[in-house]
Amino acid sequence: GPPSPKKVKLNGDDKKKITFSSKILQPKISIQEQRRKLPVFQQRNKLLDIIKRHKTLIILGETGSGKTTQIPQYIYSARLQENGKIGITQPRRVAAISVAMRVAQEHGNGMEVGDLVGYTVRFEDVTSSKTKIKYLTDGMMLREAMFDKLLMEYTVIILDEAHERTIHTDVLFGIVKRAQKIRIEKKVTPLKIIIMSATMDVDHFSKYFNDCQAVYLEGRTYPVNIFYTLKPHDDYQLACVNAFFKIHKEAPPDHDVLIFLTGQEEIESVAHQIRTLAKEPDVEGPMVRVFSLYAAQPSNQQMAVFQTTPTNTRKVIISTNIAETSVTIAGIKYVIDGGMVKARTFHPSTGLELLKIQRISQEQSWQRAGRAGRDSEGSCYRIYTRSQFEAMQKSTVPEIQRANLNSVAIQLLAMGVHALTFDFMDKPPKEAVVAAFEQLKMLGAVESLNAAHLTPLGTKMSKFPLDPRFSKVLLSAHQFSCVEESLTVIALLSAESILISPPNKRELAQKVRQKFTSGYGDHITLLNIYREFNSIGQNSRRNWCHEHYINLRNILHAREIRNQLEEICRSSDIPNSSCGSNMDQLRKALITGLFMNVAELHRDRQYITLDKKQTVFIHPSSSLHGQQPGLILFTEVVQTSKCYLRGLTTIESEWLQDIAPEYIRTHNIKCTKES
Ligand code: ADP
Ligand code: MG
Repeated sequence: GPPSPKKVKLNGDDKKKITFSSKILQPKISIQEQRRKLPVFQQRNKLLDIIKRHKTLIILGETGSGKTTQIPQYIYSARLQENGKIGITQPRRVAAISVAMRVAQEHGNGMEVGDLVGYTVRFEDVTSSKTKIKYLTDGMMLREAMFDKLLMEYTVIILDEAHERTIHTDVLFGIVKRAQKIRIEKKVTPLKIIIMSATMDVDHFSKYFNDCQAVYLEGRTYPVNIFYTLKPHDDYQLACVNAFFKIHKEAPPDHDVLIFLTGQEEIESVAHQIRTLAKEPDVEGPMVRVFSLYAAQPSNQQMAVFQTTPTNTRKVIISTNIAETSVTIAGIKYVIDGGMVKARTFHPSTGLELLKIQRISQEQSWQRAGRAGRDSEGSCYRIYTRSQFEAMQKSTVPEIQRANLNSVAIQLLAMGVHALTFDFMDKPPKEAVVAAFEQLKMLGAVESLNAAHLTPLGTKMSKFPLDPRFSKVLLSAHQFSCVEESLTVIALLSAESILISPPNKRELAQKVRQKFTSGYGDHITLLNIYREFNSIGQNSRRNWCHEHYINLRNILHAREIRNQLEEICRSSDIPNSSCGSNMDQLRKALITGLFMNVAELHRDRQYITLDKKQTVFIHPSSSLHGQQPGLILFTEVVQTSKCYLRGLTTIESEWLQDIAPEYIRTHNIKCTKES
């Protein structure tokens, strides 16, 4: 059965007892009335006036004040975009889609997303010739800039959620700044730049954008009572569940709760626990409806969190940091902050990019707490102690300073800019740029570390919206007659995981999928699954996926990605080919791009990466777990208590020597023969 909730002790700073206002039933109001109630509406004319007068502007305003949904519509209604488009970037795919859907709905007149209001995210373009208000991920705008450096399609570009400082936003800062300058010099249609955010170091931003003006939108927020735990909780998930049931017992049913966790697996597991426990006869409190919100979710499920629940039912939303500033859900009275976030971190010294769960920054914890005080006074339960809070970093380190830069380096070079000379707001560490160029050189994308342009191969690589290592695999696959298979594997690696492993049925899921398992490892196992999926009829797909614990939506998405990659292959003159059942061909093709991601068996279960000699282990979820092949190629690194590899293929050392001789020589690698 489910674990019985252990008590979490939470103390109020001021020892004030929490009191609740009596339930206020809000009458249903129309969507246009909702728009007029937003804080930004009061300042509409003033805002438009300032926007008109400045070519670059910073707009600051509390999350939920209406920046993302309203300001583009105001600009459009006042025709400030003239003959161009308004492009609004979002760091997250989810936000770009959900906001575009909302704005299309607000704009009304039976308008669909893709008409006046559209969105573009990687592998999905829902725009048309009619689209004037276009939401897109920062990564997509960056790709557009590769094809048109001046971004002539747009007359207004809004860089939203600038405080998130994603790697793509940071690069875009420089790209749009340059485009604006060149457009003035060339006397072509000028570009207006608006930088929007909930919080940011205004001086730092303003200085970078030639001392541009900043406006602050007055918003209404209410006080939030902050509570810390008395002792640290290693099991923050359990502590979140317990904190929830403490609130649940006392608070009226229309006081909704927002819980911050780190990713799909955690969120689904906590959602399951709350649903189960809430039904226990001895648990007090109203009915609950649990919603989850994370990137890998179908958009209709994501939109479901905005639904209102019946008056006698409590709504609980369990979210990643998406709900921190990107999306706002009304009615939240309580926030439970797990205090953690999943982040990608590149270590130039080890050559590994890790997906790691780590502490949030103080800035993030204030943003999270703020979500409880939007409609009225609220409370935030932090699942960490006050001293843990004080030990957190003040603000989040920009991603550009902690990420693998090889994609950025190749994209910039495709635009004729070397990453070392690019006008970054905050420069990435030099060794990370050098590491990126070393990789590009090994892949054959550049001739030297200070190259001013890409090689012809590099130019082809830059056309794929992929890590250059994956692009290289696709571009070499033809030599090994396995373009079909490479496309499938790379597409599956680019989509969200197609494997479902419910916490309570993990073994069962593994058992039914056993027949797909390849002794060569996870990539070929995935290929086997995809092949079988593709061979069954449309009508039996849903059942088949259900039976085999495969995520239908994700596998269909992978298929769309595959189609698009195939299209790029075709335009790059790569003929199609298949290796049938000869998996050696595919294994060799993978080496062409991923030779630097190889680890060698060192001693019992322990592997050492060839590149930087890191000690690593095979992840328990890998199909090679429990086996000890001599040489493995990996596509993912996960750090928990140890460093684990996942996404594996076994390879032979002679192949490595044949395919990447220079790498083997320059890295002084002695490949031992596989036994
Ligand atoms: P900001 O960008 O300032 O954080 P937004 O423009 O994103 O604010 O949000 C303004 C309001 O629109 C919020 O109160 C939010 O609840 C509402 N909203 C946004 N998207 C949706 C949606 N899909 N359904 C219902 N309400 C939404
Ligand atoms: Mg916003």
